Amino acid sequence: MKDLSRRFPYCKENFQIYSHPDCLLHEVGADHPETPERLSSILRGCSGLSADLPISFQIPPPARVSQLERVHEKDYLMRLKIACLRSNPFFMSPDNHISSQTFRAVLAAGGCSLALAATLLERGAGFALVRPPGHHAGRKNAEGFCFINHAALVIETIRQNEPEAAFMVVDFDVHHGNGINFLYYDDPRVFYYSLHGPPDHIFPNTGHVNETGQGEGTGYTRNITLPLGSSGGQWLQQFDVNLCCYESRIQPDYLLVNAGFDAHKEDPFGLMNVEDHHFLAAVRHLQAIAREKCGGRIGLFLEGGYSLAVLERLVPAIIADLAVEHSKKM
Ligand SMILES: [Zn+2]
Repeated sequence: MKDLSRRFPYCKENFQIYSHPDCLLHEVGADHPETPERLSSILRGCSGLSADLPISFQIPPPARVSQLERVHEKDYLMRLKIACLRSNPFFMSPDNHISSQTFRAVLAAGGCSLALAATLLERGAGFALVRPPGHHAGRKNAEGFCFINHAALVIETIRQNEPEAAFMVVDFDVHHGNGINFLYYDDPRVFYYSLHGPPDHIFPNTGHVNETGQGEGTGYTRNITLPLGSSGGQWLQQFDVNLCCYESRIQPDYLLVNAGFDAHKEDPFGLMNVEDHHFLAAVRHLQAIAREKCGGRIGLFLEGGYSLAVLERLVPAIIADLAVEHSKKM
């Protein structure tokens, strides 16, 4: 990772990539898909990117627990820390494998999100290459391999400076991001759009189309479900049809993207048939929305995606694309 930060040194105008070596310390055991190799594959792919690209690769300081309390209850964070120190096999549910170093990884990943928030506040853009992922995590619950919610941490950090800021959060992980969905379910300043597989058949069994928010937030949550085995064309079409009809109704200051790659046709979960070019087109579309509505402020987080080969080639390709387009806004 240090090689990447030397090769792609800091320049304020560049597209910013954030990651941390401690994110690799979260060990999950041989039979669990959310492995450290996911991130190391992406980093290996990034090392093949041209040094001429307008990218800066940074290793930010880990978050402090008090900073994570912007989203999560202190008691929850302490219970997670203790469970890791005790080397418990899992936390809260059997799919959340942990190891003695998991809390260090959580703090490191949180630090990347905080750095991304700072960049967005300065009208920049970037991608947090983090694990554990975040979109299933709630205020006081870990779920679906997620312990802290990165999108929520960015939102709450930005709100400390800009209390009235409005956010558009687009989640294309194949699973519904129930954490972010319900954290902001009654909040009209966070529009959450999720494109995912059928809730009755896949984890976390939420995100039905009739879940659209509540109270003042009614209409500011949009869940789009696609059948298992959907094609990349069907998937990509949702950005043109079901996202664009909402784009015109909301005025976001920031666009956040929960970038999961488990809808890919090569993903071992085998749920959908999206291909590299569909992901590239979707991200391009989102970046165009960010340019038009948010002054180019777009922040992405790594969520799911379990094919190491896909992660190694696709995430760096997306980063290269984002960086080139980002440089055009200047
Ligand atoms: Zn997923």
